[in-house]
Amino acid sequence: MREYNEPVFTYQPKRFEIGDDRVRELAKVRTEMNETASRIWTQTLGDPDPCLSLETLDQLKASAEYIAKAVPFLRSGTQSKGINGFDKLVLKDIEANARVMNAYLGYFHLGKIPKKGGPRIEDCVDGVFGKGSWDELKTALHQDNFPHRLMDEYSRAFHETGSRTLDSLSVLDGHGQSMAELRREFKRELDKSGKAVDKFSTDAGIVTTPGEYILQFARAGFSYWEAPHSMASIDEDRFLCHRPNGQGEYQIFSPIATLITMHEVAGHMNHDIYQERIMPQEMVVESGNFIYLAHSRSAEGAALAVEELGMDWMKENAGKLKLSEGDLRKVELFKDRYAANKLPRAMGGFLNMIQLAEERPGFDADKKLAKMTRNTFYQRDPIFFAGGTQAWEYFQQAAYFFGQNRASELVGKMRKKDVPEDQIQPALMAGIWCDPKAQEKFIFKHFLPAIEEQHSAKSKKK
Ligand SMILES: [Zn+2]
Repeated sequence: MREYNEPVFTYQPKRFEIGDDRVRELAKVRTEMNETASRIWTQTLGDPDPCLSLETLDQLKASAEYIAKAVPFLRSGTQSKGINGFDKLVLKDIEANARVMNAYLGYFHLGKIPKKGGPRIEDCVDGVFGKGSWDELKTALHQDNFPHRLMDEYSRAFHETGSRTLDSLSVLDGHGQSMAELRREFKRELDKSGKAVDKFSTDAGIVTTPGEYILQFARAGFSYWEAPHSMASIDEDRFLCHRPNGQGEYQIFSPIATLITMHEVAGHMNHDIYQERIMPQEMVVESGNFIYLAHSRSAEGAALAVEELGMDWMKENAGKLKLSEGDLRKVELFKDRYAANKLPRAMGGFLNMIQLAEERPGFDADKKLAKMTRNTFYQRDPIFFAGGTQAWEYFQQAAYFFGQNRASELVGKMRKKDVPEDQIQPALMAGIWCDPKAQEKFIFKHFLPAIEEQHSAKSKKK
């Protein structure tokens, strides 16, 4: 049980339930499968001596293959009797989850060294993110589609501040009176961001009371939400501490950190608690069975959609927040190029895998990336994306792109159907889904009608 006061959500339909026992059992097998997958990542990531257990990998493979067979069986002939509505969507989601695992293992866990070539990364990416995903990545990276202009404006907007920014480590770890004073100032700015985010969460109609959580500096080079501890960690480098014109008093520019806190708290924290309350127990995704391959699209999509609401809120409250037009534009630029910025590195990683692991004759990863992006730097400076990392990271980075696209597509569809604005974000946070189509059907056929029902029940009482 959580020890903290949890937020109260504006809309909270009663918990959805799985009706069919066999679907419920299969959902449990799915959770176990994801737990096994999660253990594999702790073998490679959580250990200073990364190493993989073939035993764990075989267990994962067995679960994924079992589910891949069990789902069509439950759908066949008289077996399908009793599996209706919501259960069908759960089944679809379980099936997609197993497909993701099988696609991933099909590339990495071969059992024996292939004589020639073997599976292709393009098929693996399509299997994990859905058909056509590889082509989507390629299209997004093309010169005509990549946000070069936005990136240029971004670097221009931050150039002066950025080139005069004091290293946050010096501030937080430094000695002397001015550093001690700045350290207190950093903490004040962090708390201010937290308060702004709480106000935003209620103003945007996501929650009626913001709940309690721990807010701290991340010190890991990136920001994250840590569910088991109700803790949001914000990268201290996002608080830009600088002296305008290189003289006078230090100033801290914190609206970007505020946007990130919105992502972690109003997004991930609320999503996490909300799905726990309204999804059937067997569908709840916890930190022990969260798999970025299967869940990041839904989770990051919802959190990135919160940033859009957050941006609107900052604009509406610019006066109170003491933000100028230029400040707002800076935040917007940061937000708008965020997912795209991850793509060249992710694609560079995938292409390097082809060259290094697949031994396709004549394949040159850097040349391919240069061709794809029309940017010869990636070829002439071949160590550009050759940084030592594990392949999982490329999938994780790409998930932001697919998640953002999917979430904005869903938001568009809801707006088209005149869904009230304050019901849209809760709909995105209703469950952590693996299959985008199952999620969409759930939103329109089950979640939004449940809110409607809740409303009419309330108005009857009055
Ligand atoms: Zn996130």
